[in-house]
Amino acid sequence: MFAVKSVKQSLVPSSELASMMEIFRFMVNQCIKIGLENNTATMRKLSLLSYHSLSEYDIQSKYKLTAISQAAGRLSQMKRSIKKGIRAKSPFVSRPYLVSCYGFKINGMFLSIPIGNRRHVNIVLKDYTISKLSEKGAELRSFTITPDSLSICIRKDVKETTPRNVIGIDRNLRNVTISTCTGPIMYKTNKLLSIKENSSYVLASFKRYDVRVKKHYQRRLGNRRSRRIQQYLHKISKDIVQRAVQTKSMIVFEDLKEIRKLYRKGNGQGNKYRRRLNSWSFHELQRQIQYKAAWEGIPIQFVDPKRTSQLCPICGDKIQEDRFQHRKLWCTNCKRVMDRDIVAALNISYKGWSRFCHPRGLPNEVMSGNSGNLQPVILGINGSKLQNLR
Ligand SMILES: [Zn+2]
Repeated sequence: MFAVKSVKQSLVPSSELASMMEIFRFMVNQCIKIGLENNTATMRKLSLLSYHSLSEYDIQSKYKLTAISQAAGRLSQMKRSIKKGIRAKSPFVSRPYLVSCYGFKINGMFLSIPIGNRRHVNIVLKDYTISKLSEKGAELRSFTITPDSLSICIRKDVKETTPRNVIGIDRNLRNVTISTCTGPIMYKTNKLLSIKENSSYVLASFKRYDVRVKKHYQRRLGNRRSRRIQQYLHKISKDIVQRAVQTKSMIVFEDLKEIRKLYRKGNGQGNKYRRRLNSWSFHELQRQIQYKAAWEGIPIQFVDPKRTSQLCPICGDKIQEDRFQHRKLWCTNCKRVMDRDIVAALNISYKGWSRFCHPRGLPNEVMSGNSGNLQPVILGINGSKLQNLR
């Protein structure tokens, strides 16, 4: 199984590269036009139709091939969206860029890109990029240059580890809770909320009637906000994946779908509440963990989030909300107060374990038959016990 990731660094392209990027953009747009006229999105048909029309461009033929494949990718993306019922615009590339998977090399600290007539452009790589590229088993796949960045895609052949433990991840607005074999860990994410609140406050206070200036300002502030949030989440996802590698665990998420539908206008919620929940970046953490775990060979599974914070992880009985404490639950059977987020994380890892790790596990609710059994929470569920539950 191959894992793919890319390394990005900032870059200001030279004038030669910039003109190549502009030519590349024209070629992609021309191929898209031809594809739309002939209603085709397959690479083979598109290259037969458009390769000769690209002869007017003064660029190496390997870039023509990648331009065709870029156009084919964008066209098939559009077709997929139409199939799903999403109203899709015809694709058009407005920013110059350059992609290729042929003929480039890493020479020490340089990335050398062919530009024709046996000439090359050398780009200085940063230390971080070099360290990622020289990782064991990593192969170079392709590079992408945009007006402000260079990213290099690398691939590694990874063997998926057979999991011995489970890490269940419960994502909430103010924290991310994981349950590991050594105990639950809670990462506070209050900082993200304050970043979002502050930036929306600053945006609202900016008053100018010129729409262009306003848009420019909004874009800059929005980019800064998403960079800060991403950076914050990278720390959490890195830590979680490292723990999974150390304990040889599988990572289990709850499958959150259609979460935004819950907080739409007219659902009887306040504006501020809806803004907070609609800007909840639950997917970004999942995306980061998915690619980082794939790179290390850690398997990832999803379970149904239904009833994960309603059942006791110890006895499996229905659990009640504690009226006197915020976000605490009270199990009448075990006579215990438990944290709501930890309960959810434990239940998620139970579900994941019973479903994906145990060969004859029950399809869901493994704890439901266990009622009255006052045992501490142990993640490695005894197999023989499970069979008796049937
Ligand atoms: Zn209980």
